[in-house]
Amino acid sequence: MESESQDRNRAAQDDNQSDLDAIRSAVRSLCARYNEEYWLQMDREQGYPADFVDELTRAGFLSVLIPAQYGGSGLGLLEAAAVMEEVCRSGAHAGVCHAQMYVMGSVLRHGSEQQKQYYLPKIAKGELRLQSFGVTEPGTGSDTTQLTTTARRDGDEFVINGQKVWISRIEHTDLMLLLARTSPAAQQTSKSRGLSTFIIDVRQAIGNGLTIHPIESMINHHSCELFFDDLRIPAENLLGELDAGFKVILDGMNAERVLIGAECVGDGRYFIDKASQYASNREVFGRPIGKNQGVQFPIARAYTQVEAAALMVEKAAKRFDANLPCGAEANMAKMLASEASWQAADVCMQTHGGFAFAKEYHIERKFRETRLYQIAPISTNLVLSYIAEHVLDMPRSY
Ligand SMILES: Cc1cc2nc3c(=O)[nH]c(=O)nc-3n(C[C@H](O)[C@H](O)[C@H](O)COP(=O)(O)OP(=O)(O)OC[C@H]3O[C@@H](n4cnc5c(N)ncnc54)[C@H](O)[C@@H]3O)c2cc1C
Repeated sequence: MESESQDRNRAAQDDNQSDLDAIRSAVRSLCARYNEEYWLQMDREQGYPADFVDELTRAGFLSVLIPAQYGGSGLGLLEAAAVMEEVCRSGAHAGVCHAQMYVMGSVLRHGSEQQKQYYLPKIAKGELRLQSFGVTEPGTGSDTTQLTTTARRDGDEFVINGQKVWISRIEHTDLMLLLARTSPAAQQTSKSRGLSTFIIDVRQAIGNGLTIHPIESMINHHSCELFFDDLRIPAENLLGELDAGFKVILDGMNAERVLIGAECVGDGRYFIDKASQYASNREVFGRPIGKNQGVQFPIARAYTQVEAAALMVEKAAKRFDANLPCGAEANMAKMLASEASWQAADVCMQTHGGFAFAKEYHIERKFRETRLYQIAPISTNLVLSYIAEHVLDMPRSY
């Protein structure tokens, strides 16, 4: 016979599952109003889906991680991951809005009470968009701690000089978190010291020391090069401690990896849906191509890998929500899911034969989009290096 506490646990799990199901179903309904023709049009025009992002914000889906006391719904990463997965599964591109969820986490965990009271309710309501973070530089790439953009204290201000690259959504945000060097690298006891994180008001900065150049790229991701030339910002815009800004950014990264993993699971499920339906309906040699095991098996294999990755995403999200260490799980989730979605994308292309290349089938757009996640926000090699060195205690390579 089950004990009372087992009964209670099961009831809590059932409630949680029905909450997740309700979130998934509501996101699906919202996304259904923005069909694949809409996303194809955005891709063609390199347009920004402001109406989609606004609706997602107004419905509260981008603020699920903001605590209720700051105007959000105070849910966990598991729920946030469900939102992002469903967005991707619908055929949409979550890259237009995902950063708001995890960038906000740095403000939540490291902001002063004053910063939190000021920014978070406005972000939750959609009055302020926090969609960008500026870390990557052309000269340092994955070697983030060596970045050279500087922020020099001058009275009540910091003065910023340097360059960033691949900064996404900067033209469609009000705020950006920026990682800049505040003390020389040579004087630091550890590689990650000497960097600080700042909240930049992008609207005020553009034309006053910040110049933006869009990068023409393979997907519609709204990424830009940024040039800082004596940009002055108030000293109060420092987020967290001076010289300890790497941790401020890093703290958002586990959430980012889990959410990107969830997006890849959504992409993977999108490709499997399309491939299995097409294989069941397309007739060649007088029978559905899906009757051939040469067509069936790769789809079944891709499905299996996406489902396995989904379990790691779920495990990482649950550990994050329980405040348990989750760096290993978050990195593994992102790597497994990005590889599984890419395999599903490739299988989906192959299953559709020549029609996969026709834009009206939408597969080639998603194929391009899902490829990103083996490179950004962290490349597969760097994930493997993290696992080898930090989980398996093998010698450091850099
Ligand atoms: C569309 C897009 C959007 C992006 N958006 C943002 C954004 O909003 N904000 C932001 O800050 N950045 C953003 N980025 C940057 C992204 O995070 C970087 O591209 C990524 O971290 C890889 O850095 P890199 O391109 O400089 O590659 P590099 O660091 O030059 O690496 C190139 C290759 O070498 C491999 N490599 C490098 N060093 C090692 C090593 N020691 N061992 C083994 N392999 C190694 C890498 O795995 C990679 O495959 C974006 C990038 C893209 C393409």
